[in-house]
Amino acid sequence: MSAINLNARTLKASAAKASTAASAARDLPPRRPAAELQALAERGSAELAAAANGREATAAEVVAWVARNFGAGSVAVACSMADAVLPEIVSRQLPGVDVLFLDTGYHFAETYETRDAVAAALPVTVVDVLPLTTVPEQDAQHGTELFARDPNACCAMRKVEPLQRSLGGYELWFTGVRRDEAPTRANTPLVTWDERNGLVKVNPVAAWSYDELMDYATEHHVPVNVLLSQGYPSIGCAPCTAPVAAGADPRSGRWATLEKTECGLHL
Ligand code: SF4
Repeated sequence: MSAINLNARTLKASAAKASTAASAARDLPPRRPAAELQALAERGSAELAAAANGREATAAEVVAWVARNFGAGSVAVACSMADAVLPEIVSRQLPGVDVLFLDTGYHFAETYETRDAVAAALPVTVVDVLPLTTVPEQDAQHGTELFARDPNACCAMRKVEPLQRSLGGYELWFTGVRRDEAPTRANTPLVTWDERNGLVKVNPVAAWSYDELMDYATEHHVPVNVLLSQGYPSIGCAPCTAPVAAGADPRSGRWATLEKTECGLHL
């Protein structure tokens, strides 16, 4: 795996290093109190609904509300590097915004290539967020291929904990969650208070379909992962992502042989 050379930085693997690197590298402004941010989220949701006058606010309108109420340095965009539509939409109004990439150590080579393309093509700062242990260290502690024996534990260590740690200094995070991805995501709001992580959560493309996402990427020349056109409409870690047949549930290739459907980031 190559490190990013442009617009990128890495949150270190050890807890101590991660804390130091994060605070030193980000230089984030002081966070407002949680109660103030929660009230702001509730007000923003109501304002967007009122301004849209019966229709749902567009992604650009949602980002504009964020830009009016938050500084670029206090928000982050989560991106799996399946596509860079969300970073592109956000960076139009919040240039330089941090894009958090959860580098589990298990990604496809094509996903790392997409990450590098995003760092080079967009006015964003890609931040590699690393787990507390490398894959060999996890193997030594828990045995090899934990993803096959206990994927919830693997996701907790390689995705959920690193994300929660990395979100600590921000006031708001953007996600690319869409309602049509899964029944568990059908009620995704545009703006909400994320109780678990203690910050505002914004989902600007919640109402978009997969086709609308791809049309936007084509029209605006946004980097996309080549695996999307090779039978992988939903892309996660390589050991837990299989190609799906045309017309099948896009997320059916994730943990395909297991009951598991979510990594735990958006529960
Ligand atoms: S998706 Fe699979 S490999 Fe990746 S963190 Fe979860 S269980 Fe581990």
